[in-house]
Amino acid sequence: MTTTEWAGAAAIVDGPGGYTGVEATPEWADEVRRLARARNATVLAHNYQLPAIQDVADHVGDSLALSRIAAEAEEGTIIFCGVHFMAETAKILSPDKTVLIPDERAGCSLADSIDADQLREWKAEHPDALVVSYVNTTAEVKGLTDICCTSSNAVDVVASIDPDREVLFLPDQFLGAHVKRVTGRENIHIWAGECHVHAGINGDELTAKAKAHPDADLFVHPECGCATSALYLAGEGFVPDDKVKILSTGGMIDAARATGAKQVLVATEIGMLHQLRKAAPGIDFQAVNDRASCPYMKMITPAALLRCLQEGKDEVHVAPDVAERARLSVQRMISIGNPGSGE
Ligand code: SF4
Repeated sequence: MTTTEWAGAAAIVDGPGGYTGVEATPEWADEVRRLARARNATVLAHNYQLPAIQDVADHVGDSLALSRIAAEAEEGTIIFCGVHFMAETAKILSPDKTVLIPDERAGCSLADSIDADQLREWKAEHPDALVVSYVNTTAEVKGLTDICCTSSNAVDVVASIDPDREVLFLPDQFLGAHVKRVTGRENIHIWAGECHVHAGINGDELTAKAKAHPDADLFVHPECGCATSALYLAGEGFVPDDKVKILSTGGMIDAARATGAKQVLVATEIGMLHQLRKAAPGIDFQAVNDRASCPYMKMITPAALLRCLQEGKDEVHVAPDVAERARLSVQRMISIGNPGSGE
């Protein structure tokens, strides 16, 4: 079947919320796979993507795992179904490949909470400080960063720095507070950023859900910036310690297969439920907050993916000098502690 033979391909509408007009039918999935092969492209999907996008992708995982898969892929083109900073990270680690994102407007409120100019000003106020940035940052901010971190290794990264050296930690205030509490470090300055989606997973909701389901496990995902408010609350004792499992994506799926619990409460973006239910269909997985859905992630619609494959858009560019500096900060992140696994 060619694109023109398939009626669904002509129906793409560019509206205020993104590209719409195409249903995720089996014909759509066949067309996506055909076009990907024709482009010598591999399709990567973040765990928080729409289920149909996850199901049509070649690989599903967290941003770091996907960036590593992108770097090792034989294909010359990477279709990154996720938000923009993630596609930039893939480009930073695969500078010779073409990296496409189905809708470049898919941003991230956490990454947008600090830009390069703001970081330059902050650094000028603390000229001797080392900058530690969570991976949810733009390539330009990574390029001004000494060490990136994930929420899995943020404590190890900060602990590896000379205790007398000031640290600027950005952009997530919840993760920063968690790191400060665990390391006991006073000379750490924390940027007041947050993810608007996960700011919605609050202590009251966690406490109420845990009380209503006393036998359930609570899985808190430490990757992607998406569960850092829950991580903070768990550390503050809002929910019993023995029920809380702080897990990467891969760890969460392994734990789902291994747990004896009949019910698991999941404190992260609700897209994660799709992979968990596939991995352990006998368990009742419930979102701690079922409104914790990232509107940016959901901009990667069936229509957007189809348009991307048809037109070769939107291409992700990172200036070579920025990419080189950013790559160093990402490579330091990978070498310290456990930066978190992927799928
Ligand atoms: S859920 Fe939050 S941190 Fe994750 S991509 Fe969306 S806005 Fe960014």
